[in-house]
Amino acid sequence: MSTTNSFTRKRRLYNRWRTSLNMQWLLILVLAVASLIVKRYQPAHFRQFAVVFAYIFLTVLLKEILLRRKIIYFHRFLWFFILLNVSLVFAMYNLGHFPLNFLFSLYILLIFDSIGGLSHKELQLTTIFSSVAFLVNIIILWPQGTASYRQAGLLHLYILQGVGFFLSLLFIILAYYTTLLRSRQAEDLIQNLEQLLHEKERNLKQLYEVNAALEEKYAASYTLSLIQQYLLDEMQDPKLLEKITDIIQGVSGSSVCAILGLREDQEAEKPGSRALQLLAVSGTKDPSALIRLLEDPASPTYRVLEEKKPSYEREASTEELALWNMLGIKSFFMIPLFTKEEEIGLLLVAHSQEGAFNRDQLEFLQLIANQLSLALENILLHQKTQELAWHDPLTGLYNRYYLNQYLAKQEEKYGSGLALGCIIFDLDHFKQVNDKYGHVTGDLVLKKVAAILRKHAETGEGWLAGRFGGEEFILLATCSVRCCRCQTPRLKQVADEIRKQIAETTFTSGDGKTFSLTISGGIACIPKHAKNTDEMFIKADEALYSAKRAGRNRIIVYSEPEESKG
Ligand code: GH3
Ligand code: MG
Ligand code: MG
Repeated sequence: MSTTNSFTRKRRLYNRWRTSLNMQWLLILVLAVASLIVKRYQPAHFRQFAVVFAYIFLTVLLKEILLRRKIIYFHRFLWFFILLNVSLVFAMYNLGHFPLNFLFSLYILLIFDSIGGLSHKELQLTTIFSSVAFLVNIIILWPQGTASYRQAGLLHLYILQGVGFFLSLLFIILAYYTTLLRSRQAEDLIQNLEQLLHEKERNLKQLYEVNAALEEKYAASYTLSLIQQYLLDEMQDPKLLEKITDIIQGVSGSSVCAILGLREDQEAEKPGSRALQLLAVSGTKDPSALIRLLEDPASPTYRVLEEKKPSYEREASTEELALWNMLGIKSFFMIPLFTKEEEIGLLLVAHSQEGAFNRDQLEFLQLIANQLSLALENILLHQKTQELAWHDPLTGLYNRYYLNQYLAKQEEKYGSGLALGCIIFDLDHFKQVNDKYGHVTGDLVLKKVAAILRKHAETGEGWLAGRFGGEEFILLATCSVRCCRCQTPRLKQVADEIRKQIAETTFTSGDGKTFSLTISGGIACIPKHAKNTDEMFIKADEALYSAKRAGRNRIIVYSEPEESKG
């Protein structure tokens, strides 16, 4: 803004001085003609006249050169020109009483005119110089005039001269005030115009802002309808929530967007307690740090759920902000997702810059969150029913139905390239446990054995533990390449570890009696022992019965003659 102002001021200065100089050049032209007239009719005064003319010409030329060079130089030496000009005009009176002397008064008018509105200081300077020069003139001329008028006995002319001097002084002061007034008026006018211009600019800016807000709202409602459609049409899509986080991230311009669901925590000590779990995230390739922060029971996410109201960085404590900052997050919105009955999750939108979200965005995200709550409730319900259908209710391991489905998918995916290994376990003399300690104790044993299996399954990538039925368990190991040569020994090693661990476990019956138990297992792999999964199970089963026949508490790899006994 200040650059524009200084630019317009320079422009104004230049235009002023240009006009004034043009007028001064015109005056020089008139003076040139006047010189010729003086030469013709008053040749005695011509020399003085010519000197003054040359003097004016040179000063105007100097001004012209400086103005063309740089307006700033010109302005810097303005006081000097004023001094030159005023001294010149008042020197005119010493030339004598010419009929053309009024032309020089015109010249001083031009000077006043050219500095008006430029600088009050210079205007005052001109007035002071003019008045001083004029008074000097009076002091010089007064005695001469007085003497000559007295001599001629023209007392009235003497008085008239005095009045003339007084009027001229008045004229100078008047010129000062009118110029000042005019310049102030011009300044007021410019100020008014500038104000008008600013007002127009402000209005235009407001209009743009309204326009942008409307466009934003339009984009928001479009996004909302898009999300609604996704939620309705693609409920079964396993990537549905990721798609939604992608959309929200895109439309809110956030760095990270995540959806968390409140689900039953199987590892919690208190049965039935629920914990937040990251269901979908966009904007980060490695969400582990984010998961740690969001899923931590002490994290602010739980407070948002409890209070059932959105939270953002301005409400966060310094410690909380420090935690977010460690993830490179400077601003965020956390919106709780809940149904009529209960809270079900949380929507997080975060940005690496401070103050990245405004009130409009919060309103928009709240609308999305409302839609998302309904959808998430359905999704979680759907997942829960699926989990029920896929898991064995007693041990929590995958059931046969799930394992069959899983294996069918693997066969479809890899075809003849499938590489898969399995261990089928069967508890030894389990019937006796039931008979001796009762069914409830039998169930507890099954749970404990399942927990051991689950732990081992978690150590291998692509490993699954399932309950095949009764007291039979299975451990499946998928392999991305056909590498059964290394897969079979690894399976054997794991199976033996499990067998040993079970044998070393002390079980306790309902009435406090302790006992131990063993397990046997059979191993078969695709493609080493079988072509498909059915055949693999048959071979593994055969191996298992070999183990039973050989005395139990052992693992046998199909068709392998050697046995392992702990
Ligand atoms: P082995 O396999 O060593 O030849 O002997 P076993 O005694 O384990 O053989 P069998 O297969 O005859 O016995 C399996 C028993 O497992 C029969 C049944 O009472 C018991 N069983 C199956 N399912 C459950 C269950 O869910 N809970 C309990 N407590 N027992 C079960
Ligand atoms: Mg058995
Ligand atoms: Mg059995």
